[in-house]
Amino acid sequence: MRWIALAAVLVGVALADEGRAVWVQPCDISSPDAIDLLIRNLKRANIKLIFVCVKDIRGRIIWHSERFSDAVHPDFRHFDGLNLLLQRAHKANIRVHAWFCCLTESPESPVVKKHPEWQQKNPNNQPTTSEIIQNNRKYNIVWMCPARRPGYVDRYLIPMMVELLKKYPVDGIHYDYLRYPGDVAPDRYCFCDWCSQHIFRHAHMFYENFPDKEFAPQKPLLPRAAANWLKDYTIRPPRKTWKNAPSTVKAEFLLRGSTLWRKIPLHRTPNPCDMDFFFYTYRCDAIKRSLEEAHKAAIKVRPDIVFSATVFKNPVLAARFCGQKWTDFLHLLDVVAPMLYRSYFPDSSFSEYLTMLSEYVRMENYWVGGNCHTYCAISVKDLYKEERREVERLAALLCLTGDRARQEKALDSLALLSGEALSSFLGKMRKTFSAFSERLKRCSVQLFNDFEKCFATLQKAAKEGGETKAIFRKLRHLTALLLNDPPPNFYPPKKLTAAINALRKARTEGIALFCASSITRFKLWDALAKSFKQPSELPHLAKPVSVPSTQVLRLLHLCRSELKQSR
Ligand SMILES: [Zn+2]
Repeated sequence: MRWIALAAVLVGVALADEGRAVWVQPCDISSPDAIDLLIRNLKRANIKLIFVCVKDIRGRIIWHSERFSDAVHPDFRHFDGLNLLLQRAHKANIRVHAWFCCLTESPESPVVKKHPEWQQKNPNNQPTTSEIIQNNRKYNIVWMCPARRPGYVDRYLIPMMVELLKKYPVDGIHYDYLRYPGDVAPDRYCFCDWCSQHIFRHAHMFYENFPDKEFAPQKPLLPRAAANWLKDYTIRPPRKTWKNAPSTVKAEFLLRGSTLWRKIPLHRTPNPCDMDFFFYTYRCDAIKRSLEEAHKAAIKVRPDIVFSATVFKNPVLAARFCGQKWTDFLHLLDVVAPMLYRSYFPDSSFSEYLTMLSEYVRMENYWVGGNCHTYCAISVKDLYKEERREVERLAALLCLTGDRARQEKALDSLALLSGEALSSFLGKMRKTFSAFSERLKRCSVQLFNDFEKCFATLQKAAKEGGETKAIFRKLRHLTALLLNDPPPNFYPPKKLTAAINALRKARTEGIALFCASSITRFKLWDALAKSFKQPSELPHLAKPVSVPSTQVLRLLHLCRSELKQSR
């Protein structure tokens, strides 16, 4: 009995320490009613930490800013949602971290228009909006240079954080998009005028006191040419040549050049192309430095502030592709939330994803090494890839994508179908519908019957003729309902439960869910309340990190000795 009691206590302690967090988007707090509903749901699900988007990916902020009033989101100009949310959340014992999409803006952002020189630039001196993404679409996010000083980080982003901290009693700062756009163009940013100069200074590749002198070993001291790096010869190309070189030539050198370029012609040396190492290191250091500066400024205003960050799941790969070597800055964070989103794993079945998810939780624990609290993050929407795809196929048949005018035009074309053509199109729709019809019938007989009625009417029209536009419109409405306001259980809650269980089994310390609006949309608050039935304290507040810094340990030691002496 004693063993059982002990085990229960241990399990209780373990569960009580589980961190739980949810991302909250501006649309979730756009009215007092929306805020009340959110708080009710969070309380029901025993979630005590939210990351609330205060600066979105397009650079729009939601607080009532004096200094950055032109960046305030139109929905929040007359409604201080953050203020009300903080009141309600704190009353419910829920902590609020201000979530910043740190380095992104929209091309229309006032700051981009005022300071175009703060944008990241590619080798052709173009900003990120010159990139083309899937389906030949233009990429419409502007990434700002994290390295330039004075620049976006020290003149805009950090002053924003400071203003927010002074005006609103948020409990933490949550960094997101603190990286380079490696998911769009890994090797093309940033080659702005500042970066292509400063990279040499950052790695001290020439002596500032001898700006035009080129130190180079006359003859190699060691047989392996690269081993002579210790002699600190000049790596930066001659100042004037570099200054006048086109940005494409500079980029070519930084990505494919060699630090040995003065000694050995490229084709003769077996290991020449090492300049890219310094390019990627420069980017990682620029990100880390931005975080350090933000950290210092925030602590000055609010010493009690907590820091959390969303990061890509693999810090080694993220260092190479996004400049986000987050293992370098764990000491500046209280909570790190690696994104173990299904869309960031290879295409696979749901059960394979769960296996890969577990493997990654173990890797996160290995990388973090106890230096920070880890809340492994999953995207709720991504869990339902199969179910969404089934409905999206029907939506595509009904031309439910694109703008309103295009949709109306497509509807007119559908309404022109008759006879054989209509019958064959109906066959396609029925086949697509059959992929989820049984599940729908179990969740809502009414909706199932509505679909069937529409199909029957179209069948009749194919045989006997008649008006079909209203029926197609109705089918579109029903399909949109399945995507945006489905009946409960249509998106099986057991998938969310299985993902949470997989995270727990692999020993995650905390679970972060992206995002509140997905949980609402897929009707999953009940399932979450069941999974999180056991109340829990936030581990980053309840217990210290297992490996605090030497300085913190020393400080604690000094405090303790002083206390002893004062007794
Ligand atoms: Zn730059």
